[in-house]
Amino acid sequence: MSGEPMALRPHHGMCMAYFVGFGYSDGFSRNMARLLTEELPPDRPVRLTVAPDPVCGACPRCAGGQCDKPELVASYDRAVLELCGLAEGAVLPFGGFTALVEARILDRDLRRFICGGCQWDHICRRTKSRWAAPERT
Ligand code: SF4
Ligand code: SF4
Repeated sequence: MSGEPMALRPHHGMCMAYFVGFGYSDGFSRNMARLLTEELPPDRPVRLTVAPDPVCGACPRCAGGQCDKPELVASYDRAVLELCGLAEGAVLPFGGFTALVEARILDRDLRRFICGGCQWDHICRRTKSRWAAPERT
């Protein structure tokens, strides 16, 4: 692993898998793209945190340093932790975390049971996960 651990809400491992440029604001989307392309190479350590993270940092719904749906998003986070067999506060490489999210949740089509009520579900359900292995031809 290299670099300081970045705090990451566990359920953002799913949101990032399906991010295609849409978000709560232009600033949110720019920040998400930057995190994915510049800040989170597979060997960057992340600390799984059920609290606002750098994704939330550019989110207009994060007024006053807290998500406006704190209990709902915390339930998403806890479901991801449980399915991945991880505890809050765990530190692991981002690539190791996303591999677990893919294998334990996304590839098993379990995401919809966690966050199927989210306003972005219609996008996530039809988008291929960026953590999935490339299809063989
Ligand atoms: S439906 Fe919402 S919470 Fe679930 S992965 Fe997509 S953006 Fe994230
Ligand atoms: S503040 Fe809430 S809605 Fe915004 S990115 Fe964070 S968890 Fe998601």
